[in-house]
Amino acid sequence: MRDFSKLRRVVIKIGTNLLTKDHEFNVEYVQDISRQIAGLRERGIQVLLVSSGAIGMGAGELNLKVRVKDIKMRQACAAIGQPLLMHQYRESFGEYDISIAQVLITREVLNNRTTFLNLKNSVETLLFLGIVPIFNENDSVSTDEIGSAFGDNDRLSAMVASKVEADLLIILTDIDGLYNGDPRKDSNASLISSVPEITEEIMGFAGSKGSEFSTGGMKTKLQAVSIAANAGCKTILAHGGKTDILNRLLNGEDEGTIFLGGKKLSARSRWILYSDPIGKINIDKGALAAIRNHKSLLPSGIISVEGVFNKGEVVSINGIANAVSKFTSTEIENIIGHHSREIPALLGKGRKDVIARAEDIVFSF
Ligand code: GLU
Repeated sequence: MRDFSKLRRVVIKIGTNLLTKDHEFNVEYVQDISRQIAGLRERGIQVLLVSSGAIGMGAGELNLKVRVKDIKMRQACAAIGQPLLMHQYRESFGEYDISIAQVLITREVLNNRTTFLNLKNSVETLLFLGIVPIFNENDSVSTDEIGSAFGDNDRLSAMVASKVEADLLIILTDIDGLYNGDPRKDSNASLISSVPEITEEIMGFAGSKGSEFSTGGMKTKLQAVSIAANAGCKTILAHGGKTDILNRLLNGEDEGTIFLGGKKLSARSRWILYSDPIGKINIDKGALAAIRNHKSLLPSGIISVEGVFNKGEVVSINGIANAVSKFTSTEIENIIGHHSREIPALLGKGRKDVIARAEDIVFSF
C-alpha cells in the first residue's frame, strides 16, 4: 500500500493532451483539476502546478485549426495563450477561494545560481502565502526552439520538483502508466505498478521512438522521473482523466505507476549535473578512471579544452560528467599535461592545484 500520510509538497504536471478536447480548450478539465487540488490542500499538502496549454490556447484565440509548427508563431501563440490560461485557472481556483500565481521559467533561470535563488525565494513566499504557483516555460523568450529549451514540460516539472525539494511529482497524462510492453500490440503487456529504480530494462519499456506506444513521450517522462529521483523525489505517472485521480492517488490507491526514487544527490551536485556546460574538457582514460573513483581532476590527465569558460563555470568532462572548473579555459590550455606542482611556475603563485575537486564532478551515467 502506498502511504502518503506524511506528504508535504507535491508538484503536479498537466499535459496539453488533457487540457484539450476536440481541438478546443477543455475548461471542464481545469475546473475539475482545481477542485481536486483544493481537496489536496485541505489535507495540508502544498501544491505546485506545472501546466502546458499556452500555445494551444493562443492558437485557439487566433482561430488556427491546425497544429502550429512555425517557431515564431508558437512563441506568439504562447504569449497570447498564457494570460488566457491563467485567467481560466484563476476563475476555477477562485471557486475554492484559492489564489494562483504565474511563474514562467527558462532553463537559464534554473541554471544560473542567482536567478535560481531568486526564484526559490519567490516560490517559497508564494507557498507560505497559501497560493498555488502555476509554472510554464517562458516560451515567448526561450531562445531555443520551443519544446527544446527544457525539452518539454515533463522535464520542467521534474526540475521544479527537484529544485523545490518536493516529496512527490505527479505527471498526469492520457496513458495509464508504464507498461512492460505495448498494450496495443501485445495482449500480455501489463501495467507496472511500482518501479524501484530506472534501469536499462525499464527505459526499454518506453518503446522505440516513433512507435505508437511512445507517442505519449514515455522516454521524456522516464528522464523526468530520474531527475526527480536524484532529488529524492518519488514520481507517479497516471491517467489524468480518471475520476478523482489526485485524491485517490494520495489515498494510496494502486493507480498508474509509482517510481520510488533512489539515492538523493545534494542540491549542489544536482545544480552541476543539470547545468548546461559552457565548455568541455577532454581527459585521458587514466584521469577518467581516477575521477570515477572520486579523485580530483588534475592537469596531467587533460588532453584538450573546447570552448571559452571562466573559473567557477560548469563544463563537461568527456561528455559524460559535469564539473565546476577551478581554472579558465585559457589557463587550462597553458597547463595541459603538466604536473600540478608546475602550476605556480606556469600561472603564478596561490592557485589551486586541481582543475576540479572530486565533490564538484558529477557523472550523468
Ligand atoms: N509550454 C508549452 C505550452 O504551454 C507546452 C510544452 C509541453 O507540453 O511540453 O503550450
